[in-house]
Order: sequence, then C-alpha cells, then structure tokens
Amino acid sequence: MKLHRKLTILADAAKYDASCASSGAKGRATQGGRGLGNTSNGICHSYTPDGRCVSLLKILLTNYCVFDCLYCVNRTSSDVPRARFTPAEVVHLTVEMYRRNYIEGLFLSSGVLKSPDHTMAEMVEVARTLRQERGFGGYIHLKTVAGASDEAIAEAGRWADRISCNVELPTRRDLAKLAPEKRATEIDRAMQVTKARIDEDRDRRSKRFAPAGQSTQMIVGATPTPDRDVLETADALYTRHRLRRVYYSAYSPTPHADGALPVARPSLIREHRLYQADWLLRFYGFAVDELVDASRPNLPDDMDPKLAWALRHRALFPIDPMRADREQLLRVPGLGTRGVDAILAARKHRRLTLDDLRRLRISTRKVRPFLDLPGSDAARWLDRMDLRARVKPPEQLELFGARASARDGQL
Ligand code: SF4
Repeated sequence: MKLHRKLTILADAAKYDASCASSGAKGRATQGGRGLGNTSNGICHSYTPDGRCVSLLKILLTNYCVFDCLYCVNRTSSDVPRARFTPAEVVHLTVEMYRRNYIEGLFLSSGVLKSPDHTMAEMVEVARTLRQERGFGGYIHLKTVAGASDEAIAEAGRWADRISCNVELPTRRDLAKLAPEKRATEIDRAMQVTKARIDEDRDRRSKRFAPAGQSTQMIVGATPTPDRDVLETADALYTRHRLRRVYYSAYSPTPHADGALPVARPSLIREHRLYQADWLLRFYGFAVDELVDASRPNLPDDMDPKLAWALRHRALFPIDPMRADREQLLRVPGLGTRGVDAILAARKHRRLTLDDLRRLRISTRKVRPFLDLPGSDAARWLDRMDLRARVKPPEQLELFGARASARDGQL
C-alpha cells in the first residue's frame, strides 16, 4: 500500500482521540542546538475553536486491533479499511512534515497488535529513532497501551514529552459493558507506573521522563452515565495520578455500531460543560458535589456550571471586591483567573468601580449582580425573579463562550 494511502487511513482513524494538546512541553536539547525541532524559541500551538491542538502529526501506527471495544471504529469486528505503518515510515513522515513546517510534533497512538508490549515496542522505536538518530527535538506524545509492562512504559516516557493511557469510559461498569477485554485495573496500573516515574524525576532540573506529564481521554455519551460519575472519575484521576489533563470526547457513532450504543452523537455542549466543570475543579476550588449531586446528576445545558452554582447560592452574594479573598472572587460568575488577578492588583491603589472593571476588560454584564460596587445595584438584581434569564448569555454567544472557556478556562 502506498504511504499516502496509509496516511489517509491512519490519520482519519486517529481523529477520534481528543487528548493531543501539547501544553506544558519544553524543548529538548537537540545536538547542540542544531538538531531538528530545536524548540528554544518555544513551541507555538494552534487550537481549533473547541480547544483541540492541530499542529501535531496525529496518526495511528496501525488501525488493526485484536480488541473489540464496541465504541471504537478500529475494533476487530469493524469493517473499515486497514493499514499499518512501519516505525521507519512514521519517522520519515514526521521529519519531512516537520521540515516543511506543517507540524510541530507527533501524536502517536495505535490499535493493539499481538500484545500490548509488542505494540509499545514499535511505538517506542519511532520515538527513539526520532530522538537518537534524527536528533528530533519537537514534541512527542505517545499513547501507552493498558497491560504493557513497566519496562515498556519506562521506555515510552524516556523519549516522549507526554504519555497518556486512555481511561476510555467514566465507570468500571461502562468498561465492562462496552470494552470487556479491557481491564480497569490495567489502565490504573499504567497510570500509577507513569506517576511513579514522573515523581522520581521531580527534583531533577532536567526531567528525563515524560516532562509534559500524563493525560487521559474519557468518552462521554456512549452510555447513559451522568456527568456526576464523569466528574468524580476525573477528580479521582487528578488526585490519585496527578494527571495534567483529562480530555472529554463526545461519543461519535461509528458505521454498523452495536445496538447497545446510541445512534446519535451527544450534544457538543455537554463536552464543553464538562471542560468548564473540569477547570472549576482544578483551578477555582470547586468540589464535584457543588456542581452535580444525586438530585442534579448532569450539568445544565443552558449556562456554564459556575453561573448555575451562583444562582443556586444567591445568599452568598453580592461580595465586596475590595475585601473578598481570591477564593471568593473566583466564585463570581464572569470573573476568570485573569480577571481576579487584575482586581487583586488594581484594588491596592483605589476603590474599584464598574468603569474600572471595564478598563480591566471584565464584562460587567455578568458580574454586576454578584459584586457590591458603587452603582452596581447588586442587591436589587439578586432579588429579581428573572435574574437567570438576564445573566444567561444568548444561545449563540453561549456556544462561542463555552468553546472559548473550554480552551482558556476563564469562567
Ligand atoms: S483497544 Fe483501542 S484501538 Fe483497539 S478496539 Fe479498543 S479502543 Fe479501539
């Protein structure tokens, strides 16, 4: 099969994996600064509107797979065209595309060939050759295959900037139903081994193992599992394995899919809401049960989760931006981390007004009911029965805003 045809098949097969953002990568030393991909000038990233990085060559080594995960287009029973790169072909493509400035790095995943270790050996061969023989200093993200040995994971992290093992689905129950050959314990073990290796490196100035950390991807909407379980799993992964990111990927129906799967793709807004909730957990001090609980197991569709929380807790507002601490300010709808830092700096010099917030590029339409500022009339706003309708952005604007906040985390 011609290389171009393989590329068409294996790039298409890789598009379902969302976990390819290259944030957090530092450049590698590359043969005295003369090697390929020397990133001393910094890696620049390009993101699609929904926050996905598009500057990597994102391919599978092969879409042959011995597993039969029902949600996956590459499952062994799927009737799709198959292809397989040799490690040398992936190296060639990466180097040539990098030289032409098409890409800044490589995101390499794979179906499972023969065994997890066999597959990992081929992927590691790509990364090792790029680094050792071609002097490649660009970004490399390798997927690890659950069930691979500790040694195989250690080798992957030696050459890659980031490694990731997909948790696949929100709960063990979902995994048993849709991917019975996959073991949650093996996925957990791969993450545990990765974390232990990263920890060993923590005090070294020059990181040797996966310096951009580990991430994972979770498919949502393939089962009726609610957002509450999704976020509890993500929160546990952040805590237990210190993942850099959990990527949420709305299930994409595949041709001739099993009857256990939904026929329609879940709304993209659900994916965006999960990203917003994820930012709130990691950077805004929220706990999962403040956003979703047994009586409200799913995030609202029609507004971001921070605004929904604030509307349920009106009694805590308005707050005085001159006295509130950082944690309180971070809970104000419309104040992202950048806006909060700007307020904390500006209030050292003067009593803030609505005009000052506008000058700090903070949208007063959303924050006005929640901040006690001269002229904000916040108490009257908070008493209004129609506050929800007044602060909720129009649908189009909301979709745009949700996408932007999924990317930069400003909520
Ligand atoms: S192991 Fe991966 S590639 Fe293979 S069927 Fe399952 S999800 Fe798809």
